[in-house]
Amino acid sequence: MDVAFENRKLEKRLCRLVGQAIDDYRMIEDGDRVMVCLSGGKDSYSLLDILMRLQRRAPARFELVAVNLDQKQPGFPAEVLPNYLRQLGIPFHIETQDTYSIVKKVVPEGKTMCSLCSRLRRGILYRVACELGATKIALGHHRDDILQTLLLNMFFGAKLKGMPPKLVSDNGEHVVIRPLAYVPEKDLIRWAQVRQFPIIPCSLCGSQDNLQRKQVGDMLREWDKRFPGRVNNMLKALQNVVPSHLMDRGLFDFAGVRATGRPEADGDLAFDPQTLPLVASFADGDDEEALDAASWASPAMTPTVAGAAGSADNASTQAQRRVIALSPAP
Ligand code: SF4
Repeated sequence: MDVAFENRKLEKRLCRLVGQAIDDYRMIEDGDRVMVCLSGGKDSYSLLDILMRLQRRAPARFELVAVNLDQKQPGFPAEVLPNYLRQLGIPFHIETQDTYSIVKKVVPEGKTMCSLCSRLRRGILYRVACELGATKIALGHHRDDILQTLLLNMFFGAKLKGMPPKLVSDNGEHVVIRPLAYVPEKDLIRWAQVRQFPIIPCSLCGSQDNLQRKQVGDMLREWDKRFPGRVNNMLKALQNVVPSHLMDRGLFDFAGVRATGRPEADGDLAFDPQTLPLVASFADGDDEEALDAASWASPAMTPTVAGAAGSADNASTQAQRRVIALSPAP
């Protein structure tokens, strides 16, 4: 195997997937100042790395500023990130706030500290975003984080709710984006090895692993190995929601359903043989041409960001759909 070739392919795939997510959800626009939250883990390092690559070739002009919150966890190597960021020559800010002591004081021994810790971190990062004049806050959550959240919400929260690629912060003041939304975690693990990021372990605070999230993550990884394409199709399913075929009365007016006397294109095929559209995945590596139509992924296309999403979507949709008859007609 030619390692350099494989690495180059991985880099192209990462840029394509991130570019497409940015395009699809208009995550970054001309003139944006994007605050990239860096934790020292593989995901946020990769996020910054890929955004810097796209910044050089994307049609929109935008600024990046990296931010790390030093929460004063015992043993946190405070010099690692500043040294790395200085080498990159990118504007950055290290915010030092001892949230570790607060969390330790407030949360009873043996209880998980993550929920309070994240709430404190969120508030601080929003404030820093204001101080830095950031118009967007970029987080390093990836495809597998989104799907884990979806399943956890179903299993334990009785809700069909994932993790949005773009949202308004809970204080209403910021737009938060997740440019890695289409990226499988396994690609980020490999990219961190290729780029040799100086990873800071995330176990410094001594908080227990979230066991349920870990179990769901293991299940997704197992599916990905045994049934290639399934996990990506789950992500695609989040983009192809049919409210009339779910059961939320707030989303669809079931009470108002009446026979119209006209055939319905999206009607229920109650008595027909079922056919399922098999949606090829973003990360499968095929249909490269169609996917490269996304303006952020390809410097050859230079429409405005706002104008490109529709055409890219059409091209990729046409190229990605194949139909497989699951059962012959009776
Ligand atoms: S693992 Fe530690 S640093 Fe991370 S959210 Fe939980 S308590 Fe905070």
